[in-house]
Amino acid sequence: MNLIFLGPPGCGKGTQAEILERNHGLVQLSTGAMLREATATGSEFGLKVKAIMDAGQLVPDDVMLKIIDERLDQPDTAKGFILDGFPRTLVQAEGLDEMLARKQRALGAVVAFDVDESALVERISGRFTCAKCGAGYHDKFRQPSKEGVCDACGSTEFTRRSDDRPENVKARLDVYAKQTAPLLPYYTKKGIIHHVDGMADVDTVTRSVRAILNGSADS
Ligand code: AMP
Repeated sequence: MNLIFLGPPGCGKGTQAEILERNHGLVQLSTGAMLREATATGSEFGLKVKAIMDAGQLVPDDVMLKIIDERLDQPDTAKGFILDGFPRTLVQAEGLDEMLARKQRALGAVVAFDVDESALVERISGRFTCAKCGAGYHDKFRQPSKEGVCDACGSTEFTRRSDDRPENVKARLDVYAKQTAPLLPYYTKKGIIHHVDGMADVDTVTRSVRAILNGSADS
């Protein structure tokens, strides 16, 4: 099944996409992660993207559509994909519709993660990841079981996203409200949206997402 995970930064969509990738063989297509890889190269394109990301703004639609168009041609997406962080604007959503029709593929469901906005700054600004394997942690909600050591790979080095600083988070939430939230009515009209309670604990959210995959959820 091909899915879109939709919700503001910090709603837990990345965590759930990782879980589905691990347990259901779907491919997580995180545009944020793809862009962070591009910034790490230090190329001119990467530097431009980094400035946009650090300001909490959106990378232009035509750039994003091209990235996804090319990524969907990779054979690993044939078994099903989760779009995590894309589309983020109506132009991207319409471009995705056109692209999927052209590639003769279809969306199975859009999963909207409903969250209480006041919790998001704390959720986002506490995030950190293992520098080696990318496993995700949180200062308050998910510390490694042994302090300073990654549970997954044993590495002792961790990183924090530069755009997760509290001063940047507000800009990202404003951008979400203005440019991405209009996608909720867009997909509601298409009749493919399902809501999950993004404030519930990780296992509960995973069960709700699974119910959607199995076609047994209310919309
Ligand atoms: P994320 O990891 O999804 O929170 O994305 C981090 C940042 O990457 C965003 O704040 C944007 O600057 C950029 N970005 C990710 N996905 C998109 C997209 N679909 N359209 C525009 N910019 C994006």
